Amino acid sequence: MFGKIAETIWKFTGTDKNNIYLIDADKKIIIDTGNRTDRDMIKNFLGRAVDFEKVDIVIFTHLHYDHCGNFDLFPNATFYASAQEIEDLKSDASGTVLDEVVAEKISAIDIKPMPEELEGLKRLDTPGHTRGSMCLLYPAESALFTGDTLFGTKRHGRVDLPTSDPEAMKQSMMKLVEVPYKVFCPGHDY
Ligand SMILES: [Zn+2]
Repeated sequence: MFGKIAETIWKFTGTDKNNIYLIDADKKIIIDTGNRTDRDMIKNFLGRAVDFEKVDIVIFTHLHYDHCGNFDLFPNATFYASAQEIEDLKSDASGTVLDEVVAEKISAIDIKPMPEELEGLKRLDTPGHTRGSMCLLYPAESALFTGDTLFGTKRHGRVDLPTSDPEAMKQSMMKLVEVPYKVFCPGHDY
């Protein structure tokens, strides 16, 4: 599935129902980059909406392989993840990415800690699925990007993975309940 879901937001859904979002505003911003096995499909569909060389910013909600797998499609982007997620990548790359090949590739690039706000996107720290998971609120479109923290069925992501923090998940969910949004942008269409 590929299409526009708001004035400036495009959504690509991969084979594991995992989503890549493009914000096409002053800057071209990608949120999560999908699974490597969907690479050709991503080029064919997402590539219609944006020239990958012109993507300015890539933000990872967390660093599991199905969210960061195609970071290298965007050669000129600056990459961001939460400070905690970056720390975990440094100390336990395979536990943070859950795929040896992607872990090795992404460990070689520079990822900057996501500031509180970047190009109109506000960072919400939502540990649980991973210690460094974050959601992003985009008030310009009243959109909320939730990664694997919250899915459409009001379920949350797994909390039994190497860098999960099951205790923190409840609080993170409570935090999201307070957030006003109209356009819901989960990491997977579960
Ligand atoms: Zn995940």
